[in-house]
Amino acid sequence: MTTRSPIWHPFTQHAVMPEMTKITGGSGAYLTKADGAKMLDAISSWWVVTHGHCHPHVIGTIKEQAEKLDQVIFAGHTHDPAERLARQLLEVTPDGLDYVFFSDSGSTAVEVALKMALGYWHHVGERRQRIVVMEHSYHGDTIGTMSVGERGVFNQPYNPLLFDVAKVPFPVKAQEQVMLDALDKLCAQGDVAAFIVEPLVLGAGGMLMYTAETLRAMHEICKKHGVLFIADEVMTGWGRTGKMFACEHAQVTPDIACYSKGLTGGSLPLAVTMCSGAIYDAHYSTDRSKTFFHSSSYTANPIACAAAVANLEIWESEPVYERIERLAAMQSAGLARFESDERFTNLRQRGTIAAMDIQVKDHGYLSDVGPRLYAFFQSKNLLLRPLGNTLYAMPPYCTSQGDIDNIYNAIAEGADELL
Ligand SMILES: *Cc1c(COP(=O)(O)O)cnc(C)c1O
Repeated sequence: MTTRSPIWHPFTQHAVMPEMTKITGGSGAYLTKADGAKMLDAISSWWVVTHGHCHPHVIGTIKEQAEKLDQVIFAGHTHDPAERLARQLLEVTPDGLDYVFFSDSGSTAVEVALKMALGYWHHVGERRQRIVVMEHSYHGDTIGTMSVGERGVFNQPYNPLLFDVAKVPFPVKAQEQVMLDALDKLCAQGDVAAFIVEPLVLGAGGMLMYTAETLRAMHEICKKHGVLFIADEVMTGWGRTGKMFACEHAQVTPDIACYSKGLTGGSLPLAVTMCSGAIYDAHYSTDRSKTFFHSSSYTANPIACAAAVANLEIWESEPVYERIERLAAMQSAGLARFESDERFTNLRQRGTIAAMDIQVKDHGYLSDVGPRLYAFFQSKNLLLRPLGNTLYAMPPYCTSQGDIDNIYNAIAEGADELL
């Protein structure tokens, strides 16, 4: 007899998915299931794992730090792991991001970004309170981040509490100017505080991709109208798009940038919101009412910061860029197999992220295609989790050619099974 677990899982409808897959271990690109079988983690455990599970340098550093200092209040106190990490972050992120604010997740990093932007305008005494967002965006699941994200079945019950934002369309290929004109028009009105966007790839919105030129043009428009540009690099950061950060493809320095997921290599929860000197300076005052009033209990947890320092050390000591380039090439070859397969459309790739849409009549997020394919992949010991009818692969950088072959073979088989 089994007793039902009291756990309520995220993004999980327990009525149709009663069984959770129990995982007992992780190493490299693989997870170990309770029955001992190895499962390829083709989505990097929800886009967080970059160098592979349980990288020895990250784990060793965590162990070392845990014996020295586990946690300390970060108001009025500091510690070496945070100081080292902040300095290293200034070196690797675009020039002009000069201050680092710590939090615990992508959602909180975005909340902090929005509060920084609104605080900036408040403190400089200009009435700008509107946030502009892009269609199909995802920035998190808190009330604030849902407000700036795509509205739909995910947030319908909370809709009355979400604040109003202005929205520009997604820059569909060859129609980028439509979006740019809409952005220009909104920003020209003078009441826009900030534009928030996922650079180059909209993740949860369905791995939608747009060009670096468009990113650059959006940034130019914001600059022209004095609108703060917030880059949500929570998913695109840490090499996913082929460069360390997606903004580098467009040589753009955002006013505010959010980083999380791969920040600790995917080992511990940590996030940072980085900003320009102007934003910091607007809060810098002997007038204590201008303090940036934000904190979480675990702000800059020393163990998590040490893990992030270890992540950056791996970027320096191991051929990470080479791995990324190799993975990107393997992904291209994998996708190419489906170019003339009429069951798939919109084949697309940016760096290590590859995606395509499977042609089905009912293609919303709640279409049963996703769960059916997910179950099929699980039966093949492959962790792939379609977004509606979008299939994508985003494995860790240590993934081998054999692993990539397995992913695309399984996708072909899955389509045979389904259609
Ligand atoms: C995942 C994600 C978030 C939210 O991060 P959490 O750590 O899940 O709160 C925010 N923005 C983007 C672009 C993301 O992909």
